[in-house]
Amino acid sequence: MGLIVQKFGGSSVADSDKIRNVARIITETYRRGHKVVVVLSAQGDTTDDLIAKANEINPKASKREMDMLLSTGEQISCALCAMAIERLGCPVVSLTGWQAGMKTNSVYGNAAIKRIDAERVLAELDKNAIVIVTGFQGINKYDDITTLGRGGSDTSAVALAAVLKADLCQIYTDVDGVYTADPRLVKDARKLDEITFDEMLELATLGAQVLHNRSVEMAKRYNVKLEVLSSFSGQPGTKVKEVAKGMEKTHVSGVAKDKNVARLALVGLEDEPGIAFKIFSLLAKNNINVDIILQSIGREDSKDISFTVAKDDMESARALLEENREAIHFDRIDVSDNIAKVSIVGAGMVHNPGVAATMFEALFNAGINIHMISTSEIKVSVLVDAADADKAVQVVHSKFYGEINGQ
Ligand code: ADP
Ligand code: ASP
Ligand code: MG
Repeated sequence: MGLIVQKFGGSSVADSDKIRNVARIITETYRRGHKVVVVLSAQGDTTDDLIAKANEINPKASKREMDMLLSTGEQISCALCAMAIERLGCPVVSLTGWQAGMKTNSVYGNAAIKRIDAERVLAELDKNAIVIVTGFQGINKYDDITTLGRGGSDTSAVALAAVLKADLCQIYTDVDGVYTADPRLVKDARKLDEITFDEMLELATLGAQVLHNRSVEMAKRYNVKLEVLSSFSGQPGTKVKEVAKGMEKTHVSGVAKDKNVARLALVGLEDEPGIAFKIFSLLAKNNINVDIILQSIGREDSKDISFTVAKDDMESARALLEENREAIHFDRIDVSDNIAKVSIVGAGMVHNPGVAATMFEALFNAGINIHMISTSEIKVSVLVDAADADKAVQVVHSKFYGEINGQ
């Protein structure tokens, strides 16, 4: 008997039948004698629909007003779920982020949780109520509503689990757990019984949206017992933990795809010290995050530098560099957002030099051109044309897992 935090994503609460299903899972847990705190996302595509509605009114709406709008989606699902639980005869209360004491910084649209003042949640639990909290949101020091970034309800759930010292944090979604690749894209992707925090963090950061990357970071930091499972199938899910049983033979735990990438290439830079510093300090000062960087070998006193940023930052990065053309000295900027990043992740690859080559071979065999490469101890990422991205995930996955299956 302990405290369990259960989070249900948008597809798990998409309509009234699904809300009733979620209410059943919650009340069954409660009736087994657990204290239950629930975090919900907005129903189905509500958040996307709200964004579209805002764009009709003002495509340049302030981030503060966007947060005011987007936070409403989670209030609807929480109230409806509380009503379904009332009907099943259990005591329940739904709370907004601010009622639950979620204090964030003031970065509207991508706020970070600073602390949770959990008195209200604890008081409700003491009264034996099931507590339902809106995911994805909190309030800042001005008492304004903030949101945590797309997919942020996972982070709300893990943060609550950490503060309440929950015995378990269950992330319920529309697939059976974490797979070796997106199961919607790769038919024979395999469900992992366990994955390490580090590998999951890389996969989430590299595009596997099954968990919000900040939720994994937080679970690792506070050692939250974390599990990803389906709200529909009743099958055992994936445990995310410090040490996990690896897939010895492949050294690769997963393949991920990220389409939220844009590439900028500065052509004809002077080949002299300080150029990279000028470019990247300018971008950093303007809060533009740079991912992969590639510098060509100098030729006849000039060189090129290409790098990637998030799609949303492409135009502001280009404008910023154009404004500083005189100071930086370059011939031209080429930009493209018709690209995607495909990555393999695995703690085992650091000791196995052939892993990257195996990935490149799979891409070569499929005739897929690689534009950029970046590696770390635990991952290899390549940049490919957006049109090739799905195929790239499939061929890379089958190169690592097809051979294993065939053994
Ligand atoms: P929720 O609404 O429950 O938060 P998300 O859509 O955010 O759900 O995340 C679940 C989706 O993540 C799945 O439907 C699946 O298509 C996708 N996904 C991407 N990569 C993976 C992976 N490696 N394992 C499992 N699911 C993945
Ligand atoms: N509703 C928010 C979104 O769609 C948060 C979440 O689902 O986690 O991004
Ligand atoms: Mg999600």
